[in-house]
Amino acid sequence: MTDPKHIAAGIVGGVEWQTEVSGFCRCPGEALHTLPTGKKDCRVNVDGAPTIFCFHASCAPAVAAANRKLRCAIGALAGGHWAIALPSGQVLRSGDILQGDGTVRTRAEIEAGHTSSGPAFAGPPSPQRGKGAAHERLVLETVRVMAERFKPELFEKFHWPFTQIITDSPLHVCERDAEDQFRTWLRLWPAHCHVWIGDIFSSGRPEHRTNFRPVADWYQIGPAMGNFTCGSSFKPGSFQRSNANCNGTRFLVIESDTLAKDEVGAVFAYLNRRLHFNLHAVVDTAGKSLHGWFDAPRDKRIEARLKAVLTVFGCDPKLFTYSQPVRVPGAFRDGRLQRLVWLKE
Ligand SMILES: [Zn+2]
Repeated sequence: MTDPKHIAAGIVGGVEWQTEVSGFCRCPGEALHTLPTGKKDCRVNVDGAPTIFCFHASCAPAVAAANRKLRCAIGALAGGHWAIALPSGQVLRSGDILQGDGTVRTRAEIEAGHTSSGPAFAGPPSPQRGKGAAHERLVLETVRVMAERFKPELFEKFHWPFTQIITDSPLHVCERDAEDQFRTWLRLWPAHCHVWIGDIFSSGRPEHRTNFRPVADWYQIGPAMGNFTCGSSFKPGSFQRSNANCNGTRFLVIESDTLAKDEVGAVFAYLNRRLHFNLHAVVDTAGKSLHGWFDAPRDKRIEARLKAVLTVFGCDPKLFTYSQPVRVPGAFRDGRLQRLVWLKE
């Protein structure tokens, strides 16, 4: 037996294969699900770093145990040198990853960090070196391709349209007036933080120090200095909105240029409910989009993985530039109020 699909089926039971390497299966932790189980909630992949992935969060320990078993068994198959022939005539070997367009990226290419097939590895070079870094690149590419595979189910499963977001808000905030919107939003920040508020170009010259103020000052002034803020606080005395001047508290503000107000909520819900990224607020930008304000990822590795999947879902990779300006609640954009529509209690 040299087919990794047989090994996978031996661990998860029957698999409804969608491709030569990925298919739907029964979740190994189904008994732990606290919400109803759908037919397409769990998927097994044998390429890259072999992975069982389930949309439920409550089954995580059982899925993790099954994943260890799966990786061990597939890693040992044919001494780690198995190969399967794809219908296209290509050969996929242990660790290679089947791409959405049907081509194969080899494990060697992925581990070497070749960037030809997508934006997942864009950004500054990793300080990591050696085997650990090569392995992380394989995991990252697995995560990215898996996200491509489960994207249709994600948008179905976590569908969270605009009106539902408003209805579901723990605090009813959307009808508050401009001043109240602004002050409510300010309370997301610890009192000592220095926050930037201004227009896009209110940054870079000493006179822009006035746009960088402690939260308590803004509480008095209101959103009069402009329509934008940042997801990061800044060092006291800053006059330039740059990553180097970011200081302490940071939110990851998730936005999309391509997803409509009724679509992007699925990404917010997936991050919040399934990946346990803490959602603080959803902001209606008074334009076409919504912004989700999350706690920033804890470390660079988690951030890189999140960036890879968010890019697949249609969210903007520039959101990882923490000095990026975003719409501030309480200001008016062409006569329409930028406002909070969902707020954590
Ligand atoms: Zn599950």
